[in-house]
Amino acid sequence: MAYYVGVDLGGTKIYTGLADAQGRILSEIKVPTAAENGYIAVIRRIASTIEEVCNQADVPVTEVSAIGVGAPGPLNSETGVVHQAPNLGWENAPLGSDLEKLLHLPVLVDNDANLAALGEHRFGAGRGASDLVFITVSTGIGGGLILNNSLYRGAGFAAGEIGHTVVDPDGPPCSCGSRGCLETLASGSAIARQAQTLIASGGGRGILVRTAEAPDEVTAVTVFDAAAGGDAEALHLIQTAARYLGIGIANILNLLNPSLVVLGGGVMESGPLILDLVRGETRNYALKEAYASARLVPAELGERMGLMGALALAIGKPTGIGAT
Ligand SMILES: [Zn+2]
Repeated sequence: MAYYVGVDLGGTKIYTGLADAQGRILSEIKVPTAAENGYIAVIRRIASTIEEVCNQADVPVTEVSAIGVGAPGPLNSETGVVHQAPNLGWENAPLGSDLEKLLHLPVLVDNDANLAALGEHRFGAGRGASDLVFITVSTGIGGGLILNNSLYRGAGFAAGEIGHTVVDPDGPPCSCGSRGCLETLASGSAIARQAQTLIASGGGRGILVRTAEAPDEVTAVTVFDAAAGGDAEALHLIQTAARYLGIGIANILNLLNPSLVVLGGGVMESGPLILDLVRGETRNYALKEAYASARLVPAELGERMGLMGALALAIGKPTGIGAT
């Protein structure tokens, strides 16, 4: 029997699972990343979670065929080098090769949004679709593309960065250096920021009463709660975010004409309201043929999305960096 390990490495936790070739989880573990202890400590921690999931399932580590790792930040999936991961404090970290040296097993690395796309394609809402666009709307906005049944990474591994497509050239400045990126107008942090601006100008009472009258504590969740309770200003903020998401998705539909758009992340999981609004706005902006041939559906894998994507990576290509 073949065994595979998936590792979902995030800024706050490491989520590791052992699975068979069909992606059935045999054992799993979650530990804090403790990134403040430095790079070496984090890769040793990853290695110890891998030993732990193998021990739990009584599988010798040497029986593992390949390890897939999902990491944040721009990275090179051919070399396994993480170029920049500000929430881990890493720069040009040779994660893949260091883990291979430590574990003596093939290791594959890709970014978390690409792997979420891969996971949903293989094990979630995208099963059976040959083309899929995955979009996660949470604190930020990320995405991944499956084209002709393969993950499309792009020439510089920057494909799928839907959050940094510009939807308003006069919009707010973005962390990437550009302006009016989708992420600055429709992410969870953007919705929270817009609510705080509204409150600062004397509005947003229906939102503010849901906190301890503390504008700093207003999050996207507060805004969604207020909208669900019938607050018109909160609903307007969500409609505005949905409109920008619709514009962003329509652009992708017109460019790629995929059959499926899978929407995940905290904002999309807030309830049926946002999905309905996004579908409507996408229809307003997309070419008729492109909208008619695409289904917009919620992601299915929830908190296991990154882990299942890392497993799909390991199972799909059981050869590692430098392995022949
Ligand atoms: Zn940007």
